[in-house]
Amino acid sequence: MAKRSIHSKADGEAKITWKETFKVHYWAFREMGRGCPGIFTVTAIHSALSALTPYVTIFLSARIINELAGSRRPGTLQTLVLAELFSVAVLTLLTGGVLRLKEFMKCKYDVRKERVFTDKMLSMDFADVDKTESHDLLSQIEQNGRWGGWGLGVLLPGFAELTRGVFGILGAIALTVSLFTLPVPKSGGSLTVLNHPVFILGIVAALGLVTWISPLCNNKAIEYWTRSSEESKFFNRLFSAFGFLYGDRSRSMDIRMYDQQVIARHYMGSDGGFGTKGPMAAYARGVVGAWAALGASISSVMTGAVYVFVCLKAWAGAFGIGSVTQYVGAVTALSQNISLLIQTAGRLKSNTAFMRTIYEFLDIPNAMYQGSLSTEKRADREYEVEFRDVSFHYPGTETWALRHVNMKFKIGKKMAVVGENGSGKTTFIKLLCRLYDPQEGQILLNGIDIRKYDYRDYMDVFAVVFQDFQLLAQPLGNNVAGAQEYDADRVKKALMDAGFGERLGAMPEGLDTMLYKDYVKDGVEVSGGEAQKIAIARALYRDAPFIILDEPTAALDPVAEAEIYSKFNDIVGDKTAIYISHRLSSCKFCDEILVFHKGQVIQQGTHEELLAEARGKYYELWHAQAQYYTG
Ligand code: ADP
Repeated sequence: MAKRSIHSKADGEAKITWKETFKVHYWAFREMGRGCPGIFTVTAIHSALSALTPYVTIFLSARIINELAGSRRPGTLQTLVLAELFSVAVLTLLTGGVLRLKEFMKCKYDVRKERVFTDKMLSMDFADVDKTESHDLLSQIEQNGRWGGWGLGVLLPGFAELTRGVFGILGAIALTVSLFTLPVPKSGGSLTVLNHPVFILGIVAALGLVTWISPLCNNKAIEYWTRSSEESKFFNRLFSAFGFLYGDRSRSMDIRMYDQQVIARHYMGSDGGFGTKGPMAAYARGVVGAWAALGASISSVMTGAVYVFVCLKAWAGAFGIGSVTQYVGAVTALSQNISLLIQTAGRLKSNTAFMRTIYEFLDIPNAMYQGSLSTEKRADREYEVEFRDVSFHYPGTETWALRHVNMKFKIGKKMAVVGENGSGKTTFIKLLCRLYDPQEGQILLNGIDIRKYDYRDYMDVFAVVFQDFQLLAQPLGNNVAGAQEYDADRVKKALMDAGFGERLGAMPEGLDTMLYKDYVKDGVEVSGGEAQKIAIARALYRDAPFIILDEPTAALDPVAEAEIYSKFNDIVGDKTAIYISHRLSSCKFCDEILVFHKGQVIQQGTHEELLAEARGKYYELWHAQAQYYTG
C-alpha cells in the first residue's frame, strides 16, 4: 500500500472530526479503487438505478390516477400504463444486471480487503512481526470487522448508501417542487392561506427536522459503539484468545485432559464482555435503545404534519388526487434518503476510530526494506559473510543476546555452531538471515553492509531449516518447492538427498500426496523426523549458496541421524554450511567449530584443536556429553 501519514499514535484518542473522517475514507476509497478498478463506478450506477426507479413508478402512477380521477381518456391511459410497465421492466432488468456485476466485483474487493493486511504482515520487519503489539493490532482489526463490520468493510456499503442517498434526494426534490409551486385556487376559500410562503418555510422546516433529528438520534446511539471501541479492545483480545480454542487442533488433547473449556467459557459466557451482563449489552438495553426510539418517533410525527399539508392543498384543489400519491411518496422518499445520508455519514465518522487502528498497523515502518543493492547472482557462489563486532538485544529487552561477535565464514566450508541453551546460537542465525538488525556493529556480505542490499535479494542467499519449522497441509511436492508449479525431478532429488527417498516410495500418490489431514481424509500424517527431512529437502531445493541447519537432527532417531551425518557432505555439496547443534558428537565432521557462551564467541577451531584446550568450554561440554552418552 502507498505510504501515507494520516494517523499518528499521539492522536489515538483525539476527537474525530469530519475532516479526518473524509480524509481517512478518501484514502481507503482510492487505495481500494486502485486494487479493484471499476467497483465504485458500478456501485454508483447501481445506487442511481435503485434510487431512481421508484420515482418513475411514483410519477407515472400519479399521472394514471389523475387521468382516472379526471378526463379518463382511454388513449392517454393506455400510453401511461404501457410507459409505466415498460420503463419499470427495463429499469428493473438493468438494476438486476448491474447488481450481478457489482456482486461479482465485490468478491474481488473482499479478497483485496484482506490482502491489505496480509501484504503488510508479510512485508513488515521481522522484529515487528515478532512483537505482541503488532499481533494485537491485527487481531483488533479482525475483531472489529467481525463484530460490527467496522474498518474497511464499512467503505463499500457506505459508498453505496451515500450515492443512493444523493440520487434519492435529487429525485425526490424533482418530484416535490410542484407541491410548493402549484397554488390553491381562489375557489379554495380560506385554504388559499396555504399559498403563503410561511407554509412553504414551515413544511421545509418540518422536513428538515424529520431528516435531521432522527438520524442524529441514531448517530448518538451508534456513537456508543465507537466509544466502547476502546473498552472492547480488552474483550476482543480475550475473545480471540479463548473464543476459538475448541477449533485449535494442537490444543485438543490438553483441552480434553484438563477441561480447559471451563476456563475459556468463563470469558465467553454472560459475564464476558460481549455477554448479556457485559457493558455492550447494558448500552443496548439502556441509552442506545432510548436514542433509537426517540429518533423513530420524531420522524413519524413530522412526516404526519407534511401529509396533512399535502392533503389540505389537494382538498382545496391545488392538484389532483394522483399528485397526492406523488407528493406523499416523494416526501417520504426525501426524508428517507436524507436520513440515509446523515446516518451513513455518522457511520463513517464512527468508523474513523476503527480506521485509526488500521492506520496504526499499516503505518508501522518497514525499515528493513530500504536497501536496494542487488546481491548479483554469482555463478561461483563466492559469497563471503563477516560479523564485525556485532552486538544485539531483542526489542523490549535489555540483556544482550549477542555481544561483540566477530567472525568470518570461509566459503564452501562446513561450520558448526555449538553452545549451551540460551548462549545465542539461534540469535546469531537470525541476524545472519536479517530477521533482525544488530544494534551495534555490522554484518557484511562481500564487504558491504547487508542493510544496503535489497532485502529479498539478500534472503535468496540463504536456505535455513529452523528448529521450529512448519510444513503446510499441502501436497508433498508443493511443500518442498514452495510453489504450485515445480520441477518434479529436482524435488525428488532433494527428498532423496535429505534421506526421505524410501518413505517417498511408500507415499500413495508420490509428490502429490497431501500432508496431514486438515483438508482431506486420506492426507498422510508424517512423523517429526520425517517432517524434518522434508524441511531439509525444502532447504536443498532452494539451492542457495548458504545452507543453515538449526538442530537438524533433534527429532530424528539415531539411525536417521547417522544417515544424515554420513550423507552430510553430499547433501550440502559446494554450499557453505552452518550447522547448529547441542550434540557435539555431531559436529566432529565440520571444518570449523564456533563455541558460543553467553552471547559471545569464546572459541573457534577444529574439533581436535578445541579438544586440545583442556580448560576450554568445548572440552568441558564434550566431556559432559561423553559422560552422558556412555553413562
Ligand atoms: P540458543 O539458540 O543458543 O539456545 P538463543 O539465541 O535462542 O539461544 O537465545 C539467546 C538469548 O536471547 C537467550 O537469553 C534467550 O532467552 C534470548 N531470546 C531468544 N529469543 C528471544 C526473543 N524473541 N525475545 C527476547 N529474548 C529472546
